[in-house]
Amino acid sequence: MTDIDPTKTARPEILALKPYASARALADAAGILLNANENPWPPAGDTELALNRYPDPQPPALKARLAELYGVDPERLLITRGSDEGIDLLQRAYCRQGLDRVLVSPPCFGMYALSARVQGAEVVEAPLVEMENGFDLPDDLESRAADCRLVFLCSPNNPTGNLIDPERVAKLADAQTDSGLVVVDEAYIEFAPKTSVLELLDTHRNLVVLRTLSKAHALAGCRLGCVIADPAVVDLLRRIIAPYPLPTPTVVAAMRALTPEALAESARHLETLASEKERLVAALSSHPGVVGLWPGHANFVLIRARDGAGLVRSAQQAGILLRDQSAQPGLAECVRITVGTPEDNDALIDFLQGWRP
Ligand code: PMP
Repeated sequence: MTDIDPTKTARPEILALKPYASARALADAAGILLNANENPWPPAGDTELALNRYPDPQPPALKARLAELYGVDPERLLITRGSDEGIDLLQRAYCRQGLDRVLVSPPCFGMYALSARVQGAEVVEAPLVEMENGFDLPDDLESRAADCRLVFLCSPNNPTGNLIDPERVAKLADAQTDSGLVVVDEAYIEFAPKTSVLELLDTHRNLVVLRTLSKAHALAGCRLGCVIADPAVVDLLRRIIAPYPLPTPTVVAAMRALTPEALAESARHLETLASEKERLVAALSSHPGVVGLWPGHANFVLIRARDGAGLVRSAQQAGILLRDQSAQPGLAECVRITVGTPEDNDALIDFLQGWRP
């Protein structure tokens, strides 16, 4: 437990910024609205959404709903356009061009390194280690992370599916207190909910958790995610987020997806995906063209094929899109397969029965 302000490692010029205050941030949309240069009439056909009006920058009802869903205080939440935006905001707030460093553990989601490079930060790699039954963080992660402004971890990790031990996260966050933030991307955590590190936020002020509605909540088309962090970090990121990041239709769709009925349906879909995954794993593990298989803890499996690129090509010819992962370090011939509907998976299993490398 440390009480050091987690924004002290942020870029000084961001700390000194006087944020832009949009009309909607200064006053609620109540009364006669002549303060935002909006068109007073809704567009043709819009009878419900009032799309002529700017949206609330952080709609309180959605924030309250997400805070309840994640079991955190609303002041710890910044709602973003997917977790992609959270990743980008953190880089912009913490990394000075040519000076600061960001640690990633490949193979992992590519946006951590890409957005670091766009920001001009140096990317330090601490590659995952392949173990007998999966992948794990390397022993020297902590020493490589020294002085890094941001350390990105992903649990369950995309594309390897491995989880990260929350105890290791806690120790790392303690060790990084004077260097910067430890960011745990939990995009797929609903598939392995018991392993979330959210409860470490109270005791580790430099820990940041990224969540998204894109996966388990089926809203990838909506673009909605959350940065969950110390309120001081949330306040800092608010200074640089776009004035109106959350489109009104997105907010309406998210509220609809977070009703008790919708959550019950998502839970049923998660159960179906879990049993479908078992079926897929069984078909893959007995296939002569599959030489490695990592089921992992998310809605995908990673395999090593005798000819990964050939598999992706043949599947595509059969109308099935898989993701070639062979460009990632340590993943030669590897392919990531998302678990689909039972019908999707039937089609894949049928295709696999006829496929030989
Ligand atoms: N993190 C991980 C690990 C992902 O795999 C993805 C998307 N595939 C994202 C973040 C981005 O998610 P979002 O749709 O919330 O931007």
